Amino acid sequence: MLTDTHCHLDASAFDPDRDDVIRRARDAGTGVIITVGSGLESSETAVKLAGRYDMVYAAVGVHPHDAKEFTPDTAERIRELSAQEKVVAIGETGLDYHYDHSPRDVQRRVFESHISLALELGLPVIVHSREAEADTLSILSDSGVSRGVMHCFSGDLDMAEKVMAMGLYISFAGTVTFKNAERLREAAASIPDEYLLIETDAPYLSPVPLRGRRNEPSFLLHTAGKLAELRGVETEDIARITTLNAGRLFGTGGYSPEGKIAYKIRDSLYLNITNRCTNACSFCIRFHSDYVKGHNLRLDREPGLAELKEEIGDPSLYREVVFCGYGEPLLRLDLVKALAGWIKENGGRVRINTNGHGNLIHGRNILPELDGLVDSISISLDAQDEETYRALCRPFIEGAYRGVVDFVREAVKYVPDVTVTVVDAPGVDVERCREIARELGAGFRLRRYNVVG
Ligand code: SF4
Repeated sequence: MLTDTHCHLDASAFDPDRDDVIRRARDAGTGVIITVGSGLESSETAVKLAGRYDMVYAAVGVHPHDAKEFTPDTAERIRELSAQEKVVAIGETGLDYHYDHSPRDVQRRVFESHISLALELGLPVIVHSREAEADTLSILSDSGVSRGVMHCFSGDLDMAEKVMAMGLYISFAGTVTFKNAERLREAAASIPDEYLLIETDAPYLSPVPLRGRRNEPSFLLHTAGKLAELRGVETEDIARITTLNAGRLFGTGGYSPEGKIAYKIRDSLYLNITNRCTNACSFCIRFHSDYVKGHNLRLDREPGLAELKEEIGDPSLYREVVFCGYGEPLLRLDLVKALAGWIKENGGRVRINTNGHGNLIHGRNILPELDGLVDSISISLDAQDEETYRALCRPFIEGAYRGVVDFVREAVKYVPDVTVTVVDAPGVDVERCREIARELGAGFRLRRYNVVG
């Protein structure tokens, strides 16, 4: 299910066929639409539309274009509207120095006033920023706001990182599909899943290949498809991730209450067999999210062999079945061996993502036991020396770094494809790690800090 986090359903462009627009959105997989007020009248209509359509929620605010019309009475009415059922945010508000339809000092003042209201009401803020990056960032930062979204993001990765550092989400619209949007696509490809949202901004900014037509929420699929292509995942992954994020920010649903033991990313199946680990890496997603690619991975118990087989079904349907790293899978060595054997017997390929502590955990060389059961293994080296490893990975086990290096040295003897992975975290000498991998006879992969899956 897709969530269109920003559209203007109140626009007169939708007057002739609004019911059909909603129906087409639903048919195209868009299950939630947030219609965003751009002025007082528009906000009043947004609230009414949220009352009329189950899948529609509302945001209330005054666009920077109309900041000059914002009076104390407007502020009071926005406050009243925000108390209505299904109002999930304050906005859109912000700064637009491209058109300058309102004086800049007035825009700044009205923006601050919206943020104060959002903070007071505990609602997220929907921010518009055009050619006003420095002032937008400075107002947001001074306000201390940490719940909100930079809508129809048009900045670069540097701007995105500053926005995310405040805790705000980044929402991409159809502009990411436009021909001359390389810089935007670079940001869209790189920001972590946990900060990603999508929107249409309909009736404006139709995505390629529908440019020139009136935009509508059913066209969101094209923007989701472009993001999937840029991020090397499927459209359904983008739908799940962004719907979950929208649910977190706006309370519009999308959570799965139970931890998943098997989940698909691209054409591989990932197995979540434990949340325990012998490291507490400073970058580990387990410490700030229950979700990877929109899948809830927080287990309330560890799964057994039979239920994992049932979840997998036919392993030959996947490019590979991966024992993955939301915990250290080799803590459950017996289960890994039994399941890997079954996967191989049934025509599947097996990969293990591990922190390389397997031999230390079990007090013996376990690699010969994996011979013939595992096709590939990714081992997190994560540092060029013991000291950096200790600071970054915070192991609970003595001699961990040396143990990882020895594990790689043994793995290349028994597993056909061994890759050493390193996260590009501060303090990591990536080139030295690459050299260590080469010396050990393993492949090398650099993982981006804060990107999982
Ligand atoms: S080794 Fe993997 S699962 Fe364990 S703490 Fe580090 S990142 Fe998390």
